Amino acid sequence: MNAIPTTPPRPLDVTALFPQLAPLARTATRLHPRPGSPTPHDSSVGGPLLWPARQPWPTCDKWHEGPVSPLVPVAQLYARDVPLLRMPGRADLLQVLWCPSEHPPEYKPPTALFWQVAAEVTNVLAAPPKPSEVEYDCYLPEPCVLAPEQITEYPNFLALSEELQEQLTDWSVWQATGVVDDSYETDPEEFYMNEVSVAPGWKVGGWPPWGLTDPVARFCVGCGTAMNPLLTVPTGEWHADNVGWAPYEDQALAERDKGQRVSNPTRVQISRGNNLQLYGCPEFHSHTDLIQ
Ligand SMILES: [Zn+2]
Ligand SMILES: [Zn+2]
Repeated sequence: MNAIPTTPPRPLDVTALFPQLAPLARTATRLHPRPGSPTPHDSSVGGPLLWPARQPWPTCDKWHEGPVSPLVPVAQLYARDVPLLRMPGRADLLQVLWCPSEHPPEYKPPTALFWQVAAEVTNVLAAPPKPSEVEYDCYLPEPCVLAPEQITEYPNFLALSEELQEQLTDWSVWQATGVVDDSYETDPEEFYMNEVSVAPGWKVGGWPPWGLTDPVARFCVGCGTAMNPLLTVPTGEWHADNVGWAPYEDQALAERDKGQRVSNPTRVQISRGNNLQLYGCPEFHSHTDLIQ
C-alpha cells in the first residue's frame, strides 16, 4: 500500500510574523489525485460516477452542431472523505461534470453540479454516454483515486488589505526568520504567495487563486449571498515556484523535475495552465466558475 500523501509543514509560522493573518486562516482539503481505478463507490477525479440509472445523464445544449453533447465526469466527492464540504439536506455525495470544450464567451468548459444521497442510488448507471465531440483531450481527466488531506491556507496576497500587503512587503521581517531565501529580497510577498498562502493543486474549500484578475467576490444569482470557494480544478499539482507544497513522497521527484512533467496526474489543463475555480452559494441555489 502506498503512503498517504502528506504536505510538509510550511517553512515558518506566518501568523507569528503577521498576527493580523491569524483570523484569516481557513482549512482546505487537498485531494492529492493519483492514477488508479476508482469505482462508483470511491471519491475520484475522472472516475465512474454513482449515477442513478433512472436520472437522465446531463448534456450540454449550447454551441454544439447537431445533437446535444453528454457531459463528462470531473470529480465525485463523498462527504466521508471531505467532511468540511457542506452538502444540502441529506446529500452525502457531490458530483461535478463539465462539457469538455472551451465555450465562448469565456472559453472555459461549462460545469454542472449534482448532489446525491448515496444510499438511495441502488441502481447505478452502467454505461454513461460518451461525449460526441471532444475539442481538447485536456478536458478528459485521467481516472484518479484521491487521498484527501486538510491543510491551512491564508488569502492570496491580492485579496489582503492594503495594510497587510504593506506589512508583507517588508523584507526585514522575513529576513529575520533566517529561513527565507535571499532571492526573495526584492519581492518578499512572492515567498508568501509561493510557500504559505494558497496551496496549488486539486482542493476543496480554502482560499481561491487570483492573479489573472484582481479578486472579485462572486454572488449567488438566487439570493445575492457571497459564494464560497467550492472546488479548485488546477493545471497540475504544483509548479516550479511552489514545489514546497509537494507531498513528502513526491519531493525528490518534484525537485529533480521542477514539477513540470510529473505533477499533473489528472492531465487536466485549464486554458493553457490556469485554474478553474468553482464557487457555490451557501444555501445551494447556484454555483459559478472562474478561470484564474
Ligand atoms: Zn458544450
Ligand atoms: Zn443563493
